[in-house]
Amino acid sequence: MAALKACSALVTGANRGLGLEMVKQLLEAHCSQIFAACRDPDGTNSEALRELAKKHPGVVTLVKLDVADPCSIKESVKKVGSLLGKNGLNLIINNAAVLPSKSMWTTTVEDMIQAFNTNVIGPLFVIREYLPYLRAAAKASGKPGMSCDKAAVINISSDAASMIIMPSLPEPFPLFPYSISKAGLNMLTVYTARDLKADEILCISIHPGYVKTDMGGDKAHIDTRTSVEGMLRVFGSLTENQHGGFVDYTGKTMPW
Ligand code: NDP
Repeated sequence: MAALKACSALVTGANRGLGLEMVKQLLEAHCSQIFAACRDPDGTNSEALRELAKKHPGVVTLVKLDVADPCSIKESVKKVGSLLGKNGLNLIINNAAVLPSKSMWTTTVEDMIQAFNTNVIGPLFVIREYLPYLRAAAKASGKPGMSCDKAAVINISSDAASMIIMPSLPEPFPLFPYSISKAGLNMLTVYTARDLKADEILCISIHPGYVKTDMGGDKAHIDTRTSVEGMLRVFGSLTENQHGGFVDYTGKTMPW
């Protein structure tokens, strides 16, 4: 698979887990401008990210962004927009998410609202608010077709979104609000793909694997390095043929 070429990228939820690893590996891939967004850049949870930004001034920029707050999204656009050149923004990685660990019987209204605000509505408004910069990148590239080097929206989804996989699992995992919100995120990918096709902005959902993070836990199958290496290889290989699709970190097509 081809490697991702130098680019500008926005990663949400970049302070820990897969988001932090994504920033590290985008740096290794010589991404020229990385906007590492998190909701509390000054907090203890963001120490590792602050260190990265200090080591790579002008390449890694910390951006305050709570995806569940539309005002915070708008504020972040002002900062990122002021730093982006005429070549716009190549890549949005909608990574931030929450997993309220509840079953159908224990879930509350607040759990459902939190899951939808963060996992579906957040990505929607991030895409909408940053769209002018994606369009600028698509225009500036001058390349035909679609690719992540040109302009792309990557929605980090989950196998828990799959209407084929989830009902076939032997035990009922307490993923009720999460699964439903990630299925919603997948539908957002489908709609966005339809509406951004004319702009040649690639849109995709990707399952990162079952990964050892705060969300995945210690029993998960792979580490963040393996997951993100795989995802970046996949990003480098994506074309208009995968536009609007759902794949995993190895490039395999996922069942919706
Ligand atoms: P973590 O729980 O380790 O990290 C979640 C990240 O999302 C944190 O940076 C957190 O920030 C951020 N976040 C949560 N709410 C908000 C918000 N309102 N605004 C901005 N940032 C927010 O999760 P992972 O790294 O494991 O997950 C990354 C992505 O991968 C998610 O989309 C997840 O659904 C998906 N995924 C993960 C799997 C796994 O096995 N780990 C499996 C399948 C999918 P803060 O520190 O402020 O809380």
